[in-house]
Amino acid sequence: MSEVKNYKEALQHSIFNTIAQAAANLEVDCYVIGGFVRDYILQRGSAKDIDIVAVGSGIELAKEVSRLLPNNPKVQVFKTYGTAMLKTNDIEVEFVGARKESYAENSRNPVVENGTLQDDQNRRDFTINALAISLSNENFGDLLDPFGGIDDLRSKIIRTPLDPDVTYSDDPLRMMRAIRFATQLNFKIETKSLDAIAKNKDRIKIITRERIVDELHKILLSEQPSVGFKLLEKTELLPYILPELIALKGIDEIEGQRHKDNFYHTLEVVDNISENTNDLWLRWAALLHDIGKAPTKKFSKKVGWTFHGHEFVGSKMVYKLFKRLKMPLNDKMKFVQKMVLMSSRPIVIASDVTDSAVRRLVFDAGDYIEELMTLCEADITTKNPKKFKKYHHNFKIVRQKMVEVEERDHIRNFQPPVTGEEIMETFSIKPSREIGIIKEAIKEAILEGDIPNEHDAAYEFMIQKGKELGLTINS
Ligand code: ATP
Ligand code: MG
Repeated sequence: MSEVKNYKEALQHSIFNTIAQAAANLEVDCYVIGGFVRDYILQRGSAKDIDIVAVGSGIELAKEVSRLLPNNPKVQVFKTYGTAMLKTNDIEVEFVGARKESYAENSRNPVVENGTLQDDQNRRDFTINALAISLSNENFGDLLDPFGGIDDLRSKIIRTPLDPDVTYSDDPLRMMRAIRFATQLNFKIETKSLDAIAKNKDRIKIITRERIVDELHKILLSEQPSVGFKLLEKTELLPYILPELIALKGIDEIEGQRHKDNFYHTLEVVDNISENTNDLWLRWAALLHDIGKAPTKKFSKKVGWTFHGHEFVGSKMVYKLFKRLKMPLNDKMKFVQKMVLMSSRPIVIASDVTDSAVRRLVFDAGDYIEELMTLCEADITTKNPKKFKKYHHNFKIVRQKMVEVEERDHIRNFQPPVTGEEIMETFSIKPSREIGIIKEAIKEAILEGDIPNEHDAAYEFMIQKGKELGLTINS
């Protein structure tokens, strides 16, 4: 057996001494295990989640730890899982008793019995997540690495401790986790594991959508999300989760005319945007910005391939997709819809930037004009360096013009310069259709640049419009 490595230096946080003391009081062995150890060794910054496994009762250990802490934090007990959690200052500690698990066919919730540390390590999903550091007095800081997790960290490999076919079939959420860790850490999933995922892909059906979405969020928030989506595609999990994306895959050719592969294009856009934003929902917008292209794709001899109205169709699909995945149908979804709906607007005006087009863009995008521009810039994936430069240059001009127009016309957060009350008073009318018509006409005139966004000019315009509608002025 090779020499035991000691990682005392990972245990500098005072909480570890408290846990060690509590374990000694109760005469149980305990270990810090999983993500904390992995992330310490990878130097990913100190984790805020600490997982403790006790060879005995995790709940009793948690209670003893709380008793020893100065402020006796509340212990939250999850009886069904035999776990307990407490928060102290900036960290969250979860306690579990070491256990042995066996699985039934139709559930990812195993039958559980008490076990040894080794049993507990066996039930962990990956070798790099099965690393444990002892908190017992006699070997404080010793690393227990039965499956070569340290070597896998070094060679950047995702591998299961036991037969991957069994591991993934038992709990198919692990398929998502494997792909998520590969993406977050930039690791490779070993071939045997990848094959086992592909083989067990159908098992993903027993995982709740909320869990799947959690992992999708984490993939999307990684530095290079495309890694995860390519793995989801390769293992054929993606059709179960986001069939809208798979529908974008492939290139058609008719009479020598081809369109681009919108699946790989989309992944490029997502990677691009991830260099410029950590906003999860803007990244979702990038992922979904072209989904309307599959149902709108047409070929005609005259113009070749078209995707007419794909932005509108795509924004409608966003709702269905969010609903299916049980994602929130709130302002986040509306934001994604808006981005998809408007995703071509800046491109359309970029080649011929007029003031009125920019005013309309800013007006329609409202608070999200910056995000929209970020999306459109990420959308430039041409491999032609001349075009690449030209498109970016065009957007620079749009951005400049946006600043100029905004300084002059204050279109962002547009407030009508003449109010409904003023219109009613001026023409002595009650709430009616005419008021809406006049207000809309004023807004249009401002956006077109016929009048400045100022009260007096708008007032004049209102008088004139009222006359056209046959209204008379209150004298
Ligand atoms: P992160 O917190 O960054 O998502 P983590 O590894 O800490 O990563 P958690 O979900 O917090 O992940 O789980 C803590 C530990 O529990 C993992 O490191 C792993 O050992 C174990 N674990 C979590 N989920 C599973 C699972 N589905 N199957 C087996 N072991 C799991
Ligand atoms: Mg964790």
